[in-house]
Amino acid sequence: MTPVAPRAVVGGLPAYRPGRSAAQAVADHGLASAVKLASNELPYGPLPSVADAIQAATPDVNRYPDHRANALRQALAERSGVDAGRVTVGCGSVGLLFQLASAFCESGDEVVYGWRSFEAYPIVTRLAGATPVAVPVRRQALDLAAMAGATTERTRLVLVANPDNPHGTVASDEEVRALVEAVPETCLVVFDEAYREFVSRSDARSAVDVVGERANVVVLRTFSKAHGLAGLRVGYGIGAPEVVAAVDKLLWPFAVNHLGQRAALASLEAADALAARVEGVIRERGRVAAALRHLGFSVPDPQANFVWLAAGAAGAAGRLAAALEALGVVTRPFDGDGVRVTIGAPAENDRFLDSFEIAAARVGAAEGWQLPTGGSARRVAGWLDRLDAVESRLTGLSTRRRAGRTAPDPGGTERWDEGQVWAHIGELGAYWLGELRSVVDAGNDGATPFGRVKSDPGRVAAIETGRRSRPADHLAHARRAMDGLRALLAGLDDAEWGRRGVHPTLGAMTVDAMLEEFVIGHLEQHAAQLEGLAP
Ligand code: PMP
Repeated sequence: MTPVAPRAVVGGLPAYRPGRSAAQAVADHGLASAVKLASNELPYGPLPSVADAIQAATPDVNRYPDHRANALRQALAERSGVDAGRVTVGCGSVGLLFQLASAFCESGDEVVYGWRSFEAYPIVTRLAGATPVAVPVRRQALDLAAMAGATTERTRLVLVANPDNPHGTVASDEEVRALVEAVPETCLVVFDEAYREFVSRSDARSAVDVVGERANVVVLRTFSKAHGLAGLRVGYGIGAPEVVAAVDKLLWPFAVNHLGQRAALASLEAADALAARVEGVIRERGRVAAALRHLGFSVPDPQANFVWLAAGAAGAAGRLAAALEALGVVTRPFDGDGVRVTIGAPAENDRFLDSFEIAAARVGAAEGWQLPTGGSARRVAGWLDRLDAVESRLTGLSTRRRAGRTAPDPGGTERWDEGQVWAHIGELGAYWLGELRSVVDAGNDGATPFGRVKSDPGRVAAIETGRRSRPADHLAHARRAMDGLRALLAGLDDAEWGRRGVHPTLGAMTVDAMLEEFVIGHLEQHAAQLEGLAP
């Protein structure tokens, strides 16, 4: 008799291990209380209107729900500005991932994803019988260019968590577009936007805009994160009608439960209250990230509802998470890479920060950290603080027109009107961000030529043509560049901070010198010029 045995692929899968609960931590460590910051949940219960909708739906749970969740599809289509035929609803976005992989992959097909990234990707890939192609992350972020390079004619799916889990970083519009343009039409690109609502970078929009242009692009979203409905299991996808139809065939009967459908509809109605909650999480996220950096531990640019502790070396993540748990803070370690910490309510975040300071010292977390630590981390934090400060000065300046001409620019003779200053502010960020990238990307110890001089024709032309545009438009350009710069600076390691460039007139310069002379210090000088003009 043959003993019962699962398919070989199932035998090889790791058992799913849910995060530890606060109650387990309390019991194991004899604590008075503990907080769970391990599963990227929202720290609040449902909004009153959503709770009411769930309550009102309970008498109907003896009936099967609407299998297709038609009312929810319709509401999502309206809010996303697409036809209802482009919307699918599933049992969490993870449910839709399984459906997608089963619908599009067979044995021998390849699935490309970044690694480390969301843990479900290798599982859905293997269960579909496909071959995983894991592309290493770079600077604590998915490397979309390398992922594009890894696609072949055998690739059926590219899975992009954007923002990524667990790093929390987001790919820019430019990176998304380049990936979509590089992959063959026979390959489906899935942007898993589970954390989309938390993105604050202005240069990283949702890929929903791309769906209408490309039949091979799908966006997955969820009610589990920003909507705070993780326990009700509702996710949705937006894609070409043919893709939606295929995915729908694999929806298990009645997989999207009735309470979840009603709660999701009510949550869409409560958009303003929800946006206020999300704003609160984003504020707390900024506070936690800045505090960690000032404690001497750099973190990558957080764009989801968690921060990433790049603890690095084997065993280090587990030791740090265990030390945090002993102090009553449950987090999520990923061995060999780091620890993911969900943003909670303000008091929970305070408890995490206090505990982190103690735990990090106890386990020597600075050793093996993959980003700058100590004084170097504080230096990075200083740049990011200056960037925040100059952005808010420019924002204030953009709302009031000013007359007259500036004093000559430092080291120069040009006296500009307000329009010229704004035109320059609008163009310089993207230019210098590109130059900085080329220096840090050079990947060698030699110095990379970079930069331009004041008479550069592109610079002169941009200032002349832009001088009559509105300050708000220039500010929007500047902001995109500042957001890209924040993400770049937060993700650089010590070796990258050590790179040098050679400027045509100023000679060899460090990254810090470039930031002072051409980017952040430069923006501060132009903000001061504008402040010097008569309102
Ligand atoms: N995608 C990513 C990137 C996630 O991190 C998660 C939650 N851990 C999900 C999808 C799953 O969300 P859902 O609850 O909708 O299945």
